[in-house]
Order: sequence, then C-alpha cells, then structure tokens
Amino acid sequence: MENRRFDTQAINDEILEAMSLKNRYNFLNNNLMSVLSTEQFKFLRDIERFCMRFEKKNNITHGPEEDIYEWIPEFGKKGYITRTHAYSEIDENYDYYGATADFLRILGTDQFSTMYVMASGATILAINPVREHHDNVPVRLEALKDMVTGKSAGAILITEPERGSDATHMLTECEEQDDGSFILNGTKIYNTNAPKADWVVAYATTEKNNANQMAQFLIDTSWEGFNVKRVYIPWVPKLFLGKEELVNLKVPKEYVLGGPGRGKAHLFEGLIPERLGIAMGAIAQCWGAVSHAAIYSNMREQMGREILKWQGVGFLLTDFWAKTTNLTLSLLKFCEAYDEKVENFGGEHNIPANIRQAMVASASQLKYHTTLLSKEACYEMANLMGGAGVCDNTAMHDYMNISRIQEVVGGTRQIQQYIMSMALRTLFKMSV
Ligand SMILES: Cc1cc2nc3c(=O)[nH]c(=O)nc-3n(C[C@H](O)[C@H](O)[C@H](O)COP(=O)(O)OP(=O)(O)OC[C@H]3O[C@@H](n4cnc5c(N)ncnc54)[C@H](O)[C@@H]3O)c2cc1C
Repeated sequence: MENRRFDTQAINDEILEAMSLKNRYNFLNNNLMSVLSTEQFKFLRDIERFCMRFEKKNNITHGPEEDIYEWIPEFGKKGYITRTHAYSEIDENYDYYGATADFLRILGTDQFSTMYVMASGATILAINPVREHHDNVPVRLEALKDMVTGKSAGAILITEPERGSDATHMLTECEEQDDGSFILNGTKIYNTNAPKADWVVAYATTEKNNANQMAQFLIDTSWEGFNVKRVYIPWVPKLFLGKEELVNLKVPKEYVLGGPGRGKAHLFEGLIPERLGIAMGAIAQCWGAVSHAAIYSNMREQMGREILKWQGVGFLLTDFWAKTTNLTLSLLKFCEAYDEKVENFGGEHNIPANIRQAMVASASQLKYHTTLLSKEACYEMANLMGGAGVCDNTAMHDYMNISRIQEVVGGTRQIQQYIMSMALRTLFKMSV
C-alpha cells in the first residue's frame, strides 16, 4: 500500500500499491539506466534507498499535518542537502559532487517529497554565497556548516514588496557605522524558508534604487530587528515563506559578505545555479507525474482494456514521457559539460567569459523550458488519470500545485525571455 494519508481510499488496493515509492523509483531507474554512468547510477540508487528507509522508519504518510522541516537534519547527516561542491572548507569532503551529482540528488529526492526538495533548494541559495565569500571568517563557516549539514534551513532575501522582477533597484537600505557594522532597514517578501531558518542572506543598498551600491549580508535570524511573518502559499502548503521587516537591524562587520558596490555582482553570481536548480526540480516533478500516470494507465481498465491501450491516453502519456526524457538528457548533458569545464579550468571562476556567457543563456533556456513542461506535464498526467489523479490518494496534487509556481520563482517566464533575448544579441555580436 502506498504510504500516504487520506480520509477515504478512492483507488483500488492493487493500483495504489503499485504506485509505491519503490515502483516509481524502478520506473525512473529503468528509464535512466542506459544514459547514466555506473557512478551516477549508484549515487541515485543510494539516495533512493535512503528515502525509502526514511519514509518507512518515520511512518511518513505525506499527509497535510507533516512538517517537512523536521526531515532536514537526517538528510543533512547523510550529506543529501546539497552536492554541488565537496564542502572541504567545513570538513565534509563529499567524494561525489558537482552539478550532475546535485541533479541526481534532486531526481532521487523529489519522488519522495517534491515540497521538501523545493525547501532544500532555497537553503542552497543561502549556502552558495556563504561558501563563495566566507573568507575563512569563523562565524561564516559556522553558518555554512549549519546549513550544509542540516542543522538549520537557510533563506535568501532578495525580493521586496515593491521590487520583484526589478531586483537590482532595491529599497531596503544599509548604513555603515564607524565600527564597520551596518544598520539595515526595509521590507523583504516571499523568502522561502525564512520563518524556519536560523541563517539568511540578505541584500540592501546604501542608496535606494542604486544597483551599484548594493551590499550582501549574512544574518542570524535571532538578532533584534529581524521580524518575520509567514506568507502562506496555498499551492505549496508545507513551505514556509516569509515577509520580513528589518528594523534597525545591526549586522556586525564579520557578517558582511560583500560591502556596498559588491552586492550586484554577488547577486548575479547566484543566478545560474538558482536557475539550474529550478530546472532540475521541474524535471524531477515531470518524472514524478509521468511515473504515477505510467503505472496507473498500465493497470486501470475501462471498457475492457487497460486505458494505456486507448490511443487518447497512450499517446498523451508518450508525448509527455518523450518530452520529459529529452529535457532530462539535455539537462544532464549541460551538467556534465559544466562539471567538466569546472575541472578543466580549475574552478568555476576560471571558465572563460565567452563560455560563461553561453552558459548564462543555457541556464535561462533550461529554466524557461523545464518549468513550462512541468506545468503542462503535471496537469496533463493528473488529468489522464481521471478521478485518481485529482483526489488526495497520491502525490499527484502536490505535483500539480507545485508545478504552477516554478515559472514565477527565480525570475519569471518573461524575465527569462528578456535575458535570453539579450544573450542572443550578445551571441550575434560575437558571431557576426
Ligand atoms: C513560491 C515562491 C517562492 C519564492 N522564493 C523566493 C526566495 O526564496 N527569495 C526571494 O528573494 N524571492 C523569492 N520569491 C519571489 C520571486 O522571485 C518573485 O515573486 C519574482 O521575481 C517576481 O516578482 P513579483 O512577484 O514582484 O512580480 P512582478 O515583478 O511584479 O511581476 C509581475 C508580472 O510582470 C511581469 N514583468 C515584470 N517586469 C517585466 C518586464 N520588464 N518585462 C516583461 N514582463 C515583466 C512578470 O513577468 C510578471 O508576469 C518567491 C516567490 C514565490 C511565489
């Protein structure tokens, strides 16, 4: 029996059992085994085994009352919060890491809980700048360790009530003090995990609307002047997003990750990994939806045969299965190429500017395309399953709902189109 909580069972025992986490993993693995290397496949299987054991041991039903934030420490202990880097600076020293490793981590974890993956993705957005700019300052390394090892969730505070897509023209102000500390005042909003996080990374500026005066800060959320309220997003009911009022919040000098003038560059640095992370999550959602629908339609019978054999169902399923497979291959290729370049050039900062420029475009293209697919695939796969796809007996409603916000986060659809058109112009100038 699939381990889910529902008031009334609508799907018959046999099919519900067949849509178990184990079988959905089998479906995913059978699809990917021909394209993954032995090392990649082993890592994926390790995560899947961990998730299955974790679900069973903790009697997780994925019912509405469960707190996904309670799961973070155990994932952290196993090194499954992030695998983008080895994290040797905090003595974690993961032996398997990189963009590809993180893609596999997301693929393996999302079938277990898609909302949990989105929350951990937001923690990574806080991890990245602290890792990049810790400068061996002990408090920064402590924050990094807390977030990477699952002691605390993290959050990134960019968006403001009046500044969403126009993120570089901020209104939150910072004022430098004689001792090198800063006083912050302003309001941030829609910051994933913020009400649950011990650490956040926030941006502010010494002059409103001046992108060149932006700075970046690490903040301990227990400090006086950090006031957070939850913003409830009904499509991801288990996520905690925050609206923060920063009132004379004092940030000591050692917590300044980038002083005025450096904030904008730090902000842009984080955007490629953010978009890639969202693309990976979106494709993982497609696999979640397709694997439910594939198992269901191979077993559910109407008018004397399995519904897969009715063309209307079978061809719709194969269309989204093909699109999901193709975009998975494209994302995998991008991740492998990225990892190879990081290794060949001796670090991500040494990748030549022209290659980086092309990668900025690819990250936007992938985010744009995968989130669009997730929105369509999750709805269509639920629709294809009839009542079973829209009732509360499976994770399909989680997929349908989460898929509808992926285009908004990390730069909206229109902003990705804008970035792509600028990148296209640059590539034209490089070519002609
Ligand atoms: C679930 C969720 C999680 C989030 N997590 C975080 C987080 O962790 N940290 C964080 O800082 N923020 C977070 N955000 C905020 C998110 O990044 C913003 O919502 C997003 O950037 C859009 O900003 P906005 O909501 O103010 O919309 P607006 O910027 O007001 O956009 C409204 C509409 O106008 C369009 N638009 C705006 N400008 C242009 C333009 N120049 N050309 C064409 N169209 C345009 C947009 O595409 C959109 O359709 C989150 C949001 C959500 C919903």
